[in-house]
Amino acid sequence: MNEKKFNVLKKNFFYIESYGCQMNISDNEIVISILLNNGFFLTENLKIANIILLNSCSIRSKVELAIKNRLQKLKYLKKEKPILFGILGCLSNSMKKNFLDNNLINFTIGPDSYKKIPSIIRLSMKGEKISHIFSSKKETYNNIKPFRKKNKITAFLSITRGCDNMCTFCIVPFTRGREISRDPYSIIKECETLYKKGFKEVTLLGQNVDSYVWFGSDGLKKRIYKKIYTENKKIIDFSKLLDLLAIEIPFMRIRFSTSNPHDMSNKVIEVISKHSNICKHIHLPVQSGSDKILKLMNRKYTRKQYLSLIQKIKSIIPECSISHDIMTGFCNEDEKDHQETISLMNEVKYNYGYMFSYSPRPGTYSYNKLKDNVPEFIKKKRLQEIIDLQRDHSIFQMKKYIGKIQEVLIEGESKKNNQYWYGKNTQNIVIVFPKKTYKIGETVFIKIMDYTSATLMGIGIEKK
Ligand code: SAM
Repeated sequence: MNEKKFNVLKKNFFYIESYGCQMNISDNEIVISILLNNGFFLTENLKIANIILLNSCSIRSKVELAIKNRLQKLKYLKKEKPILFGILGCLSNSMKKNFLDNNLINFTIGPDSYKKIPSIIRLSMKGEKISHIFSSKKETYNNIKPFRKKNKITAFLSITRGCDNMCTFCIVPFTRGREISRDPYSIIKECETLYKKGFKEVTLLGQNVDSYVWFGSDGLKKRIYKKIYTENKKIIDFSKLLDLLAIEIPFMRIRFSTSNPHDMSNKVIEVISKHSNICKHIHLPVQSGSDKILKLMNRKYTRKQYLSLIQKIKSIIPECSISHDIMTGFCNEDEKDHQETISLMNEVKYNYGYMFSYSPRPGTYSYNKLKDNVPEFIKKKRLQEIIDLQRDHSIFQMKKYIGKIQEVLIEGESKKNNQYWYGKNTQNIVIVFPKKTYKIGETVFIKIMDYTSATLMGIGIEKK
């Protein structure tokens, strides 16, 4: 295609797809909002679109491959009409050179440069190839009202961007930059607006929500800490933020993800237990049950410390569900390490979890300095073992709900049966039940009659 033939004056429709984590879904809403406010039109129809945006993820090579395959599938569109392809998000950082050498991609834009999208698209329409990757120490998009689909009742809201943890396997600090916390008052304001618009649940997002800290202006976490000690200012940490939100928006359910075991404080656990509108679920990635591997991963906690945190959570919030991320086959992981992960899982008996096998990411410490020395077939075997074990534990946990009454926020129609609603209880467990006269957005009481490893089934009852 000759990019110069792009008709700059015609109505421009963009189509956007998102890959990877919840953070990317949240970023999508920011990107859509920026484009709609700058004269672009959103379409869900590829045939209408003349701008195609893929909001990418580079956390594992599989996701990266999925995005590249998707691009190959979409490339026929370039033969049919003048069309721009843009890569947004994490992959745009790590792959910019390859992308721009390739005739398929017109521009790549990193996670901190979304405000530049309208101008970059306009320049691309004139034939320029552009890569705007820039790591900001300030950008939290707190002045952008994210675009949220109508009739939705749950929303994501990013409270921090980037990550300072430097886990040796993780590409996030390199693609999303240093950690920045967002102004708490803009978070509260956005939650209030969401509630007024009919949203009933908000999930606060961050790579490590527990390290949220605010002392009065945007900035890098470390710099903030330095100021706290030198200026002794009042700060708002994650426990205070949760407390403020729970009080200010008392009828809104509040969730958060992801917690880091190293940073989760007692105060956070106490605040969760204190407020009925803060959901009783903690996603607490452990990654491995072996101290040797945790050290190699630079996770900054030991197996003992992790387990005592779990104990603390269970003693302060007995009804709290706990989920995990576990990675198998990390550098130097031997059978003993793997068995330690298995024994940790047996000790905790998580409600559910996300499991991955190690995927070396260029630029990370483990990629540069450690050997990816666990053979692929062993990684796969270990992964299957922990997936099977998690299934047993999920079933063990689900069984406990039989005969119990659960308060469920209705989110939508069950995918398997249009006569059923689905919703979640406070522990983030999906529950399906006959629709009766209930409506989306209502909180109803459901008696649990049956279960699978991932879903509870029940019937609606009157509240006594
Ligand atoms: N920030 C969170 C943390 O570190 O606890 C999670 C972030 S990451 C988006 C989600 C999960 O992806 C991680 O918890 C980890 O299990 C997995 N992950 C990250 N890098 C990976 C890699 N190089 N290979 C395989 N899995 C990876």
